[in-house]
Amino acid sequence: MSNQPTPAWNIRHAYIDGAFVPVHGERVVESVNPATGQVIGTALLASREDARRAIAAAKRAQEGLWHASKDERIAMLRRLQAAVLAHTDRIRDVTIEEYGGPLARARWISQYASQCFATAADALARHEPVRRIGEATVLMQPVGVAALIAPWNSAAGSICSKLASALAAGCASVIKPSELGPIQAQVVAEALHEADLPPGVFNILLGSGSDVGDELSRHPDIAKISFTGSTATGKLIARAGIDTMKRVSLALTGKSASILLDDADLAHALPLAVNAAFMNNGQACVAGSRLLVPRARMDEIAGRVVAIVAGMRVGDPRDPDTHIGPLASRVQYERIQHYIGRGLAQGAALIAGGEGKPAGLDAGFFVRPTVFANVRNDMDIAREEIFGPVLSMIGYGDEEEAIRIANDSDYGLQAYVFTSQPERAQRIAGRLEAGTVLINRIVPELLAPFGGVKQSGIGREFGVFGLEAFLEPKTIVEDN
Ligand code: NAD
Repeated sequence: MSNQPTPAWNIRHAYIDGAFVPVHGERVVESVNPATGQVIGTALLASREDARRAIAAAKRAQEGLWHASKDERIAMLRRLQAAVLAHTDRIRDVTIEEYGGPLARARWISQYASQCFATAADALARHEPVRRIGEATVLMQPVGVAALIAPWNSAAGSICSKLASALAAGCASVIKPSELGPIQAQVVAEALHEADLPPGVFNILLGSGSDVGDELSRHPDIAKISFTGSTATGKLIARAGIDTMKRVSLALTGKSASILLDDADLAHALPLAVNAAFMNNGQACVAGSRLLVPRARMDEIAGRVVAIVAGMRVGDPRDPDTHIGPLASRVQYERIQHYIGRGLAQGAALIAGGEGKPAGLDAGFFVRPTVFANVRNDMDIAREEIFGPVLSMIGYGDEEEAIRIANDSDYGLQAYVFTSQPERAQRIAGRLEAGTVLINRIVPELLAPFGGVKQSGIGREFGVFGLEAFLEPKTIVEDN
């Protein structure tokens, strides 16, 4: 008999048509605290039939939303904001307990979850839905029922941010959080329910990608898919959606480069560059996992990076002094081990961390923050998204080569430039193949469009661009 305690969470419901209703899937997933390896809950996944019920509820709610005024939608967003704000602490706590997010990160996600409704309400308030172009009147109208498919690495943030943009545009939605974060999804659903919106305006069901996700991607009553996740899954969704010509926004894999220029202030830049790589335990699409440094100074800079990493504390994510918590799952732990092994096998120089668990942290899915120096951009660790705290330092000769290496990637989500010359930074930013470039900082501007170029995605989220991703122009021209 197992000596594990009885799981505290036993989720058997989805949120459909304004109520928590039983689901009818066959698969039960376990939720594991990644810091301890203990099972903390189970969830029965929804079935395709449950997904169809959720789509039908959203379709009914869409009838009301076609005609909802701007003020009515703003009021709904404000109610969602207040409801989620009231649950900030619960969201923070489950982000730590189920996901292993370090306290500061979990706190940020929990605050962002409510703030994004306020941001969407502000964007909507300023948005002009009717435009005159030549002799035409152009109406920006909601595209219709949206499927919002989210990943596990920022569960509450993704769910709320997508819902905020969809609702601001006047789209009812069916939300499919990742089945790898069932407790986080449940806590967010309970918070959103308290906003008391009309039934069906949003529906939330946990299901696996191959059935519920696939159903959402094919169903004729879904007009739009907003997906965040891996590039491989994004391609499946885009293919599945094309038969019914769904509009798709795909926020996908990243392999971001941080360019450290020869004139950068290292004392300022290097801690930021290391944080860019290791933020969110390295499980961030925007992780700056390739650090490009002047080749002639590789040894000097590597030494400073090692010192910074040595000062980063790995451990209990509840502890405010912890920088890096556990990876989210055993699968993630093994993935990181695989990539560290690939780096070693392909001849990169291991200068910090390495395979195995940090000393004294045997129970959970902790990994050693790892840095490789003298990495070539054709090595697997430089080409593929690792999604853990593994940094690859790559040398370059001059600015041109730095830009070429940064752009030599299938992906193009976010890039970082560190320099003391603003004009040089702007010039380089203009040439980088990335949806976002951050200069001497790692904090984004959340009102500005966010998304990827190349295989990092299609479309943009956040602010007015996020709102317009759920709108479609209708042109009306009258003979006069
Ligand atoms: P994933 O692609 O495995 O899963 C994402 C979601 O898609 C989950 O809800 C999953 O159930 C669902 N899904 C899986 N197969 C499906 C299918 N056939 N049809 C429909 N839905 C399906 O990604 P993940 O492991 O949850 O997340 C990590 C990935 O997400 C990383 O690659 C990361 O870079 C990316 N990500 C990107 C951004 C961004 O904004 N660009 C943000 C966060 C994460």
